[in-house]
Amino acid sequence: MKFWQRAQNAGFKIPELPTESRERTFPDTNCVILDGKLVASLIADQCKELGKGRKQPKLAAILAGEDPASQVYVGSKGKSFANVGFASETILIPSSEASSDKLIETIEKLNADVSVSGILLQLPLPNKMDEAAITARIKREKDVDGFLAANMGLLAIGNFKDTFLACTPFGVMVLLAAYGINPAGKNMVVVGRSNIVGKPMALLGISADSTVTVAHSRTKNLPEICRNADILIAAVGKRALITKEFVKPGSVVIDVGIHRDENGKISGDVAADVRYIASALTPVPGGVGPLTIAMLTMNTALAAWN
Ligand code: NAD
Repeated sequence: MKFWQRAQNAGFKIPELPTESRERTFPDTNCVILDGKLVASLIADQCKELGKGRKQPKLAAILAGEDPASQVYVGSKGKSFANVGFASETILIPSSEASSDKLIETIEKLNADVSVSGILLQLPLPNKMDEAAITARIKREKDVDGFLAANMGLLAIGNFKDTFLACTPFGVMVLLAAYGINPAGKNMVVVGRSNIVGKPMALLGISADSTVTVAHSRTKNLPEICRNADILIAAVGKRALITKEFVKPGSVVIDVGIHRDENGKISGDVAADVRYIASALTPVPGGVGPLTIAMLTMNTALAAWN
């Protein structure tokens, strides 16, 4: 498995799931629950185990501004690091002090700090700053989000030994592998073409020998294209857009979307009726979300160890 090469070099293994977990289905369906939370916890266990006697990985998260969702994300990342015995620190920059110069100066300091293995610049940035230009200042070897052009480029040319894979699509690949779903020769349709999910997902699909189609907001006949998928990845950001009319019976469906309603209930891009025709599906919550954090933890370990 090419995407796993760097992890394997550091001693990580694709998590093995007990048979009863692999066969667990949504109630009243034959649709297997792709339990991202479980796979994430097994990755976390490996981080803890492999960390014994090795350099302690450390994440430095830069949180500029007061966006409440960003505060929650950075907080939960910190907790996950603490759970596996890794260090993390958050550098808070209030929006009144957040300028491009200030952020670049902070990044340069962290680039030079040998105790920091990985740097995370939490987006969105306040004050209409140029996010791409500022992110680009992170040292490639500390880009544990895998957002830099250099790391995306290594992925594109198939250098899996040196790149950092973007955490969400990396998590999707691990989930498929843990459930024994081999993308080789399958039709993979990725709905969404963002730099952080859709594009790296499509590149990972190609590297795993899938025949990949990327659909987006200007795609015509979306349901018909999605029905061609053996593996359908929804990374659209539109609540319940993908209904059963978009899904080929027996296909595998991965729901990347995260939406919170006014009561705080979380749901995804995939409608509830899809579970009656898909052979396997990620729940939301408990699917791709926890894996994204687990892969950030693993990427920070890889930055520290190899
Ligand atoms: P984005 O807004 O950057 O990209 C959305 C993509 O969907 C775009 O490429 C756009 O072309 C496409 N799109 C929009 N409307 C469409 C339509 N009607 N038909 C077809 N394509 C359409 O979003 P993103 O950052 O890629 O995130 C996508 C979703 O995934 C969001 O809900 C986000 O919250 C979620 N997300 C989850 C995780 C996680 O850890 N689970 C991580 C990142 C993003």
